[in-house]
Amino acid sequence: MSRDTTVVVIGAGPAGVSLANFLRRSGVDCVVLEARDREYVEGRQRAGVIDHRAEQIFGEFGLAGLVGGGAPLETFLEIRVEGVPRLIDGPGLAGGRPSRLVPQQLLVRRLIGAYLEDGGDLRFDARDVTPHDLDGDRPRVTYRDADGVERELTCSYVAGCDGFHGVSRRSIPEGALTTYSFDHGIGWYTVLADSPAPRYPLMAVSRHGFAAQFARGPHASRFYLQYRAGEDPRRWPDEFTWEQLRLRLGDDGLPGGAITGREVVDMRSFVAEPMSYGKMFLVGDAAHIITPMGAKGMNLAVADAYLLARAIVAAERDGDRSGLAGYSEACLRRTWDYQEFSRWYAEMVHEAGDESEPFRRRLALARLDRLFRSPTAGAAFADLMAGTEVSPGRWPAPR
Ligand SMILES: Cc1cc2nc3c(=O)[nH]c(=O)nc-3n(C[C@H](O)[C@H](O)[C@H](O)COP(=O)(O)OP(=O)(O)OC[C@H]3O[C@@H](n4cnc5c(N)ncnc54)[C@H](O)[C@@H]3O)c2cc1C
Repeated sequence: MSRDTTVVVIGAGPAGVSLANFLRRSGVDCVVLEARDREYVEGRQRAGVIDHRAEQIFGEFGLAGLVGGGAPLETFLEIRVEGVPRLIDGPGLAGGRPSRLVPQQLLVRRLIGAYLEDGGDLRFDARDVTPHDLDGDRPRVTYRDADGVERELTCSYVAGCDGFHGVSRRSIPEGALTTYSFDHGIGWYTVLADSPAPRYPLMAVSRHGFAAQFARGPHASRFYLQYRAGEDPRRWPDEFTWEQLRLRLGDDGLPGGAITGREVVDMRSFVAEPMSYGKMFLVGDAAHIITPMGAKGMNLAVADAYLLARAIVAAERDGDRSGLAGYSEACLRRTWDYQEFSRWYAEMVHEAGDESEPFRRRLALARLDRLFRSPTAGAAFADLMAGTEVSPGRWPAPR
C-alpha cells in the first residue's frame, strides 16, 4: 500500500522536534507539520532545565552538543527558608548526574537546525491539521499549507506532539480516553528580567509567599512569585514586584532591572490515558501537563519521544511491535511518578511558608528539613531531579 511517509509528526515543540531527530537519525522517514511559523516556534520561552537523563537520550543520537556547549552546569540548589540559605548538592547526591540550564527556545532552535541540516522535512504554517482513519492500517493527515493549498499525507503512524491545546488528543473518539485533571490551588506570577543570574538555582520559602529565581543566561533571570487567591498580579507595578522579591528572597540588595516578560501560571496537572489510540500516539503535553515544580514537563516530552522513536524503529526494522503495544504504559508510569514528585515538591515549598495552616506548615518544614538531614531522603530527591531510567530495554542495534 502506498504511503507518503512512515510517521506524520504533528507539532514542532520539544516533543515533536526531538522525535523527528530521533527517527531521522535511526533511518525512519517522517514529516513534521507545525501550525505556527518558525520565528514563533523558535522564540517561545518556557522551560529551562534539561535533566541528566534527557541529556543522555540526546547523546545516544549524537546530539549531546545541543544541550551542552557553554550552558552553565547546574550544581547546588539553594532553598532559602525565611532568608536562611540551605544548599543541596543534587548532582552529587544523584551519583554525579548534573542537569543543565538550557532555555526551551534554544533547545527547540537547535533541534530544528539539526533536523533540517540532516535533510528533514518540516512544514511550518500548516493550518487545519486533521488526522483521519486512525484505527485503520493507513491513517491520513490533511492540512492547508502556507499558501492555503489543501494537502494530504498518508502514513503508518501519527505522532501527536501538538501540546495540551492541539488537535491530536481531540481527534481520539470520546470514551476511548480517561482523563485526570487537578488544580493545585497555587498561582504564580513569573517575570523575565535583566537581572544577574543567581549563584545557584534558588527557591525561597517565606511567610510572604513562595518565590524563586533561575538563571536565563548570565545577565537575565526568571523569577516566580506565588500570588494569593483574589489577587491579580498583572496589575502589580514593577516596583512592587521587586519589593516582594527582595522580601521573599531575603535579599535587600537584589538589583532591580528591566522586566521583559510577564506571565501568570496557574498550577494544573492533567493526564490522558492511554497515550495511544490505533495508529495515533500522544507525546509530551498532548498527553500530560505537570506543574513547573521539579522542571519535568520538557523532560517528560523528550522521554516520551525517545520511547516512541524506539518502538517505531523496532516495529519498522524488526517487525517487533511490543514497544508500540507497551508505549503508553511505559510513558504513564513515568508520568505519574513525576506528577507525584511535582505535587510533593509544590506542597512542601508553598505550605512551609503558609502561616494560615500552622499544622501543615510544621509538616512541610519537617519534610524540608529531612531533605538536608537525611542523605537517603536527599538522594531520593536528587534521583528524581536527575531523571529516572526511561526504560530497561535497549535500542535496537543498527543494521
Ligand atoms: C511558564 C511555563 C514554565 C515551564 N517551565 C518548565 C520547566 O522549567 N521545566 C520543564 O521541563 N517544563 C516546563 N514547562 C513545561 C514545558 O514547557 C512543556 O512541558 C513542553 O513545552 C512540552 O513540549 P511539547 O512539545 O509536548 O508541547 P509544546 O511545547 O506545547 O509544543 C506543541 C507544538 O505544537 C504546535 N501545535 C499546536 N497545535 C497544533 C496543530 N493543531 N497543528 C500543528 N501544530 C500544532 C504548537 O505551535 C507547538 O509548536 C513550563 C511551561 C510553562 C507554560
